[in-house]
Amino acid sequence: MENERLHHALQSLKSTKVRMTPQRYAILEFLFSSESHPTADDIYKALEDKFPNMSVATVYNNLRVFKDVGLVKELTYGDASSRFDSVTTDHYHVICESCGKIVDFHYPGLNEVETLAEHVTGFKVTNHRMEIYGKCPTCKNQTQH
Ligand SMILES: [Zn+2]
Ligand SMILES: [Zn+2]
Repeated sequence: MENERLHHALQSLKSTKVRMTPQRYAILEFLFSSESHPTADDIYKALEDKFPNMSVATVYNNLRVFKDVGLVKELTYGDASSRFDSVTTDHYHVICESCGKIVDFHYPGLNEVETLAEHVTGFKVTNHRMEIYGKCPTCKNQTQH
């Protein structure tokens, strides 16, 4: 399933001007096999043994390239640590307040909220972001002991 998504991503990259390199392949492979919405730093740490000459900035720049062609989504949280998401279809996130893990959560899009927001505020609404906060199963069990 994950390999299929990676395969699909690689296919769609072929139709862009983005050149595939071993580093880019490794970054994509990590991102598509990870469900944790990693930061550029997480990806860098996971791959630094394999690519000793690669910097965090290189990882980040490559993520930006993937983002520009629509392969990944960047989730910004008002600090330096953007999270990257390989699932670009609409979905919501549940975020652990203890360890920061982000888990995908599928729920019908709340489009009526956007419509209402447009009516009430006069904005041209483009999208919305909803996040659920709590403790993940691992952290929940830790606090119970
Ligand atoms: Zn947690
Ligand atoms: Zn996600």
